[in-house]
Amino acid sequence: MQRFANKIAVVTGGGRGIGQEIARALAAEGAKVAVVSRSEASCGKAAEEINTAYPGSATAYAVDVSDHAAVQELAKKIGDELGAVNILINNAGVTRDGLLMRMKEEDWDTVLDTNLKGAFNTVKAFMRVLMKAEDPRIINIASVIGLIGNAGQSNYSASKAGLIGFTKAVARELAGRSVTCNAVAPGFITTDMTDELPQAVKDAVIGKIPLGSFGLTKDIAETVAFLASPAARYITGQVIAVDGGMTM
Ligand code: NDP
Repeated sequence: MQRFANKIAVVTGGGRGIGQEIARALAAEGAKVAVVSRSEASCGKAAEEINTAYPGSATAYAVDVSDHAAVQELAKKIGDELGAVNILINNAGVTRDGLLMRMKEEDWDTVLDTNLKGAFNTVKAFMRVLMKAEDPRIINIASVIGLIGNAGQSNYSASKAGLIGFTKAVARELAGRSVTCNAVAPGFITTDMTDELPQAVKDAVIGKIPLGSFGLTKDIAETVAFLASPAARYITGQVIAVDGGMTM
């Protein structure tokens, strides 16, 4: 099935983990994908891997999504090099965990600037093009932590709850132009981000997941691909938890 033939997609945080899997899934079905991440090495390697499987489908762009001016420039560059974007996936995200009592201001700012302002920056930069595109989609990768909170993650939780509010406001603002905007809230997914957790924390988390295991990056990518596809045209402003039943 080639659900994304002739579509141009942007995936932020596409260099690793969930973002790379999303970029691969879209490329597998015909999309031309801009793989965006902070480091040249990371997005370059991801694009190379995707191109090995789907030749000519991926282009790497090393940009910090928290930098408003740099994201504006990125939008222009992608427009010139790949064409008008149909699908924007805001997946770039970071954690700087710590109890509030000890959290530094820069830990708060880095997480909010990347996870929340990053999405503001990209939506601002691509919205005009999306409003004229065929099957235009914005999909924001939130987190179950934005729904239920977590001790030691006040910055991350606020950023993801903010992203969910942003998703709904953007969905309402752009609905008149047929741009849909949805959020996917992953539970615990095996990636570099969760590999950092101590084994005791992982065991405790698994005890709270009805399906009894961490999810795979593919679980998120499949959901994103559905939301990005023409079949999801009547879904907007929603948050879909892909979390093994954790937040039901
Ligand atoms: P990873 O840490 O594996 O990868 C994060 C990606 O985001 C990297 O490619 C990184 O770039 C990129 N990135 C980080 N900051 C910036 C920035 N300022 N500008 C551009 N790119 C940036 O994360 P995951 O794959 O685990 O997570 C992806 C998303 O899913 C995040 O938003 C995360 O919050 C969310 N999520 C993840 C869960 C999980 O269990 N893993 C659970 C719930 C939500 P580079 O490679 O160059 O460093």
